Amino acid sequence: MEEKGTISIHTENIFPIIKKFLYSDHEIFLRELVSNAVDATQKLKRLSSLGELKEDIGDTRIHVSFDKKKKTITVEDKGIGMTADEIKKYINQIAFSGATEFVEKFKDKDDVKDIIGKFGLGFYSSFMVSDKVEIITKSHQEGAEAARWECDGSTEFKIAPTKKKERGTQVILHIAEDSEEFLDEWKLKGILDKYCKFLPVEIQFGTVEESVEDGKDKDGNPEYKTVTKDRIINNTEPLWTKAPSELKDEDYLKFYRDLYPMTDDPLFWIHLNVDYPFNLTGILYFPKVKNDFEVQKNKIQLYSRQVFITDEVKDVVPEFLMLLHGVIDSPDIPLNVSRSYLQSDSNVKKINSHITKKVADKLSELFKKDRKAYEEKWDDIGIFVKYGMLSEDKFYEKAKDFALLKNIDAECFTLDEYHEKVKPNQTDKDENLVYLYSSDIGKQHTYIEAAKKRSYDILQLDGVLDSHFLNFLEQKLEKTQLKRVDASTVDKLIDKDEKVESVLSETEIEKVKGIFETAVNNENMKVSIESLSPDEMPVTITMSEFMRRMKDMAQSGGGGYYAMMGNMPDQFDVTVNGNHPVISKILRAKKEEKKQQLAKQAYDLAMLSQNMLTGADLTNFIKRSVELAGE
Ligand code: ADP
Repeated sequence: MEEKGTISIHTENIFPIIKKFLYSDHEIFLRELVSNAVDATQKLKRLSSLGELKEDIGDTRIHVSFDKKKKTITVEDKGIGMTADEIKKYINQIAFSGATEFVEKFKDKDDVKDIIGKFGLGFYSSFMVSDKVEIITKSHQEGAEAARWECDGSTEFKIAPTKKKERGTQVILHIAEDSEEFLDEWKLKGILDKYCKFLPVEIQFGTVEESVEDGKDKDGNPEYKTVTKDRIINNTEPLWTKAPSELKDEDYLKFYRDLYPMTDDPLFWIHLNVDYPFNLTGILYFPKVKNDFEVQKNKIQLYSRQVFITDEVKDVVPEFLMLLHGVIDSPDIPLNVSRSYLQSDSNVKKINSHITKKVADKLSELFKKDRKAYEEKWDDIGIFVKYGMLSEDKFYEKAKDFALLKNIDAECFTLDEYHEKVKPNQTDKDENLVYLYSSDIGKQHTYIEAAKKRSYDILQLDGVLDSHFLNFLEQKLEKTQLKRVDASTVDKLIDKDEKVESVLSETEIEKVKGIFETAVNNENMKVSIESLSPDEMPVTITMSEFMRRMKDMAQSGGGGYYAMMGNMPDQFDVTVNGNHPVISKILRAKKEEKKQQLAKQAYDLAMLSQNMLTGADLTNFIKRSVELAGE
């Protein structure tokens, strides 16, 4: 007997609302239906393992199919099925009360699509693409009568007994005109691949033709034939669900290549496996990044019980680990709720700090186990470690023992080791340690050579994060200052208060200053005369560390004050070494013209060593050099 009824909800008609809200993401209907089919199958398996199923469980494969002519998409399982009463209870009432609550709560929100599952709207997402939905189902219970439910998206439904041989549920969607794009093999396959690739129950979608070897011909060459095979969408036992002890490196690499074809192999990985206080499994891979922040295209994928949810893991994975690749699977992450809720969720916070801790432990283990191999990987790992130290204090506390500083000779030191190394020679008169660094070995070569002559060590800090990292190090390390190797003349780089007597008298100094100010003739180049060691250049051009950092900050997007600094012209110090023989020569020159020629030449040489000599200045310099060579 057919029964008619009205779905008991207060809201007049829920479907237009669902349709409107979910429009942007309507492909998820398939994920919802297939997940329901998987759940129903898993429930059946549980009953069977508890000995509560009379019959043999048999084949449990889920079938997804479509019929272009009839305009239907069907999802069919051999799970627990439903009796007519259960349909009324689970589909009509529960789901609808969920829907009502959903509409009441979220009618004004934008992020509704994230909320569907939480309110038991999964099944009803099928109305996003259908005019009519049928359920034909037979319960696993002994002697159960099959039932057929039908609803056209209004609040009215029909339910009647029907004939169905096998246990399980068939959901038939009659696709609406505006959704006919889904009646396409590749479209559906694409959606299944995206969301269902690792579901724990086999899912078949049509068949594939494969060419297989079929004996040999009379010359012994292999012969092929085409066979039709079931197309199975998913790998029911993805790697992360297995015990790490069962797995070899090759398994992890293969899984990585399956996830991200065409990518370099990862450096190493972490297999996450937590039961308490929350459930989490997953594999995180460290990719080769070098200095390239753009590798993000391969994102971490988030699953809930093997159902793909999203690759926007922003709030679940700590910011600094967003560069990692791999999968995370947790039924404890409230996946279907809004962003702001996710951020304040305590499970999410715990997961976040657990992942941070695991990553730190893994790095520490690698460092201790094989320092050489670790150092070799440092160019790739460094970016994570530095980013992590900058962004999470807890991570810094661990990472300070395995973070490395690399000098320009490619030697690596921990922070403590480096402190000890440079202490004897790089402590200034105020007992401050000065760490010197280069951001471009080629361009700063002259300055590096000068510093090396004094046996100073020079760090290589030329990465994308390094301008931030060195500010950070200064805050963390006590009485330690970082200076770029060209931040001042080598005498002043580490001020040890070693006075060098001046060979010039006061009046001579004034004269030299006048000559150079005329030669330089630029208000952004501040000329000063110093008595430096004779091994210094006659003229050195430097930008103070303070000024340079301000500039760097402005460039990397610091607002306000920094932005203002960014608009200011670069200011440099021009230090003339009064003790250099060239300066005495300039003073001795008879003609004013000659003095200017020599002063300009010394200045241009300094500009040249800073890579700042270009255009007409460069041309003039070359001309002048030729003249001087001919004298
Ligand atoms: P949820 O899956 O979040 O509970 P749904 O609206 O998707 O919400 O489904 C409501 C209920 O209907 C399910 O909890 C389940 O009891 C029942 N159901 C849906 N699909 C099936 C199915 N294929 N087999 C058996 N029961 C199902």
